[in-house]
Amino acid sequence: MVKCPKCGMEVSTPRRSWKMAGRPDRSGKRTELTIGIFDHCGTSFRAVLAKRKT
Ligand SMILES: [Zn+2]
Repeated sequence: MVKCPKCGMEVSTPRRSWKMAGRPDRSGKRTELTIGIFDHCGTSFRAVLAKRKT
């Protein structure tokens, strides 16, 4: 659940979501990010939905 940057309401369903591999950290592990695009207040914004070490 993420908050709309304009009105502060919580938006639960992303219009679109996908997974993205982040940069490896010092120990060489990558963090897999789940990114979502949300629509609210006539604008769209992105948010990180989940982070997972792979
Ligand atoms: Zn809003």
